[in-house]
Amino acid sequence: MCPRCGSTDVDWIIPQNWSMWVCKNCDYTGPIIIGDKELSKEIKEDWENNQKEKTN
Ligand SMILES: [Zn+2]
Repeated sequence: MCPRCGSTDVDWIIPQNWSMWVCKNCDYTGPIIIGDKELSKEIKEDWENNQKEKTN
């Protein structure tokens, strides 16, 4: 999943380089993390809170 926003909507950029991924949700590029639903939820909540702070 994306370490930035917790999204699992991530794609490999370069097939030869397994550590480079792009997140379709927040445009993050780089290595992704493996985690369970609990961790994904925590990251998503943090991300959403950060987005709110930016807009306010
Ligand atoms: Zn993301």
